[in-house]
Amino acid sequence: MAAVTCDFLVVGAGVIGVSIARELRRRYHARVMIIEKEPSPGQHASGRNSGVLHAGVYYKAGTLKARLCVEGNRRMREYCREKQIPLNDNGKVIVARSPDELPALRELYARAQANGVRAELIDGRTLKSIEPCARTVEQALYVKDTAVVNPQRVMESLVEDARREGVDLHMDCAWHSREGREAAKTSQGRIAYGHLVNCAGLFADRIAWAFGVGTHYRILPFRGQFYRLRPESRLQVRGNIYPVPDLRNPFLGVHFTRRPEGDVTVGPSALPLLGREQYRGLRGITVQDGLAMTTYLFGLFRRNQDHFRSIAWRELRKRSRSGFFREAQELGVGLEAADLLPGKAPGIRAQLVDTRTSELLNDFVVEPGPRSTHVLNAVSPAFTSSAPFAEHVVGLIKRD
Ligand SMILES: Cc1cc2nc3c(=O)[nH]c(=O)nc-3n(C[C@H](O)[C@H](O)[C@H](O)COP(=O)(O)OP(=O)(O)OC[C@H]3O[C@@H](n4cnc5c(N)ncnc54)[C@H](O)[C@@H]3O)c2cc1C
Repeated sequence: MAAVTCDFLVVGAGVIGVSIARELRRRYHARVMIIEKEPSPGQHASGRNSGVLHAGVYYKAGTLKARLCVEGNRRMREYCREKQIPLNDNGKVIVARSPDELPALRELYARAQANGVRAELIDGRTLKSIEPCARTVEQALYVKDTAVVNPQRVMESLVEDARREGVDLHMDCAWHSREGREAAKTSQGRIAYGHLVNCAGLFADRIAWAFGVGTHYRILPFRGQFYRLRPESRLQVRGNIYPVPDLRNPFLGVHFTRRPEGDVTVGPSALPLLGREQYRGLRGITVQDGLAMTTYLFGLFRRNQDHFRSIAWRELRKRSRSGFFREAQELGVGLEAADLLPGKAPGIRAQLVDTRTSELLNDFVVEPGPRSTHVLNAVSPAFTSSAPFAEHVVGLIKRD
């Protein structure tokens, strides 16, 4: 690539990078360029997630997630309808597996009300009329506005929009380092910019560190493995069946999701990894990351922050098919071990940890830096929230 100059350089063509680039172009009519290290956009979390458009029941009122998710759900559903991207609009039920989970179920109901989400506490009979195979103890929560999309279809459409609107996309182009105050050294040469927006997902912390930003943060990768429900299973699913999550940790637990194509996914798990792109076995671990993650995971395990030990044990059990089955079986009637077939490609969550407190951060984190802005914790439901999230980030950008 010959010497290149742009007003805004966005690193990463996931849903966040593409949405922010579109918003920058719309707002400033500026020269906006995205660089992506892969041959095509959406190869990581954005193309490998569950595709659930979350309604906003999980998040405490007043958090960024609560505000952006509710708005993002409405806009993403509208976008899919407008672009004729298939959507499963059958809502979701959250079921209690034991009486101990009822207080958390009611807390979710209270959060839904505070966030303006259409949700109802229902009894077992009503549950059967919505999801005939789901089981619960006493009560369940019915969330009407949860929908499911194919995330790759959404990504393709967003990228097409971005290109048409004048965003310049460069594939196979990795950010390597800073070159002075206003240029990046990339695998395709030097790119000068006015402002850089770091949307690099699993690598966003590393890029931020190069700008002296977020040095007390580190991204921990957690792999989500999926199974596919055998179509002939006695357990049938219309929309989504979720468990009551442990509200202390950021993951929602194994659930059933009917995709718009008709198949039902079961998962995902949330296994802590040693490599940022460790999609299979030990592949994707570098010596540098492997050592750092091992040290860090041991530290978290020892301090047991955010009940990390119990999360880790539970997730390790789900590495085996039987462990996974045991967890899925609690949500409905009729599931047999043979009903779990190999599922879609796994995805890896870029979960931010505050290394000062060993806390797994729950809310989105965006940090300013010299001539740069860094998106550091675009975890679920960032896919759902991407349109208003992009507006929020662009609103924070100070052009110096
Ligand atoms: C298993 C799983 C299930 C999920 N389920 C849901 C869900 O149901 N609903 C929901 O709303 N959210 C869900 N999420 C979360 C959602 O997928 C993410 O929040 C969202 O995709 C984050 O988008 P992103 O653009 O920040 O990251 P990514 O999609 O990971 O994009 C980052 C991009 O940066 C590129 N990059 C990295 N380093 C460099 C570099 N040096 N130079 C150039 N490019 C670089 C990467 O190749 C990548 O393409 C899920 C996530 C996972 C993993």
